[in-house]
Amino acid sequence: MLRPNATSSRTEESNVEGPEASTSPAPLSFPYHPPQTGAGLVDITPEIKWFRMPMPYALDHVNIYLLRVEGGWLIVDTGLDAPGAREIWEEVFSGPLRGENVVGVCCTHYHVDHLGLAGYLTERWRVPLFITYEEYFTLLGWPDNLEEVPWQHAQFFQRAGFPQELLQQTLVMFRFSSFISPMPLSFVRLQEGCAFPVGDDWRVIVGGGHSPEHALLYSADRKILVSGDQLLPTISTNVSVSVTNPEDDPLGRWFASLDRLAEIPDDVLVLPGHGLPFFGARRRVEELRSHHEQRFQVILEACATRELSAYELVQALYPSPLSDFDLQLALGECLAHLRYLVTRGGLACRLDGYGVNRYRCSQERMD
Ligand SMILES: [Zn+2]
Repeated sequence: MLRPNATSSRTEESNVEGPEASTSPAPLSFPYHPPQTGAGLVDITPEIKWFRMPMPYALDHVNIYLLRVEGGWLIVDTGLDAPGAREIWEEVFSGPLRGENVVGVCCTHYHVDHLGLAGYLTERWRVPLFITYEEYFTLLGWPDNLEEVPWQHAQFFQRAGFPQELLQQTLVMFRFSSFISPMPLSFVRLQEGCAFPVGDDWRVIVGGGHSPEHALLYSADRKILVSGDQLLPTISTNVSVSVTNPEDDPLGRWFASLDRLAEIPDDVLVLPGHGLPFFGARRRVEELRSHHEQRFQVILEACATRELSAYELVQALYPSPLSDFDLQLALGECLAHLRYLVTRGGLACRLDGYGVNRYRCSQERMD
């Protein structure tokens, strides 16, 4: 599975002499082949293992990492509590980890693919859950299993110009509880800059934008960054204004996180929540910045001569038909870009007589 001498294969592919040879970011390289989905483990190093849990979505897997720390193994992210997932974990425990100890479960953020089995695993091993404060309580406060659309949500979608007849379909974002095992009733709080409680060569970096207080684990000595969804190699992470926090500016926090991740050296191996481990954090940060810049351009061009709603802009940004779930992600992401531009003076926003926010290019210049 593992290509021998990952570092030198990276150097061949990137065609640079080393990370200090140039100030321009090295291209991305991918030194590991994917594991079979399920209990097949890949040794990233003798002390870091990687496997994949299947997911019943277009994005069909989530990466799980096992880090050897004091006293045993730390599980980083869990997969969702879908049929067959607990069995895969039991195969890992009775196979590759046979006779080994698990000392904790760390969830990078609260999304179900990363946290769904946290309760099951912490209970099975009687070990702590390591997570940031906002991620823990965001999940506990998530209004799941809604049957009717609350007025606050209805107003949010009205302001976005979302078709009234599709309102019931927005409840798709509140149907995840069957994929989450009962949450642990306590947790150990992760905070920016803190040493990881059971492995002090790992430091916590807190990012934002995709979720409120997303934890990344960084070991400068090992040259490894466990990035969760905060830095993915091929897909752009969803950054959305959420119906539960409609005045939010998540893209502002996302860019601040990217600034931070742009400092990660090129010879650090990034272990992402989805996709393949890769070298080239700085290049990936550049690509993501330019992805959002392109989105800004499409929005600004569309709003140069017309006043458009967020829903109308979604049609411009995502021309092909979307599933109910993807439509919610697309709308949230569009609103994040709009909020960013309005806050910084690129767009003006006016509430029209129908209760719909309409956006138009502003005369003010952007910062
Ligand atoms: Zn994810």
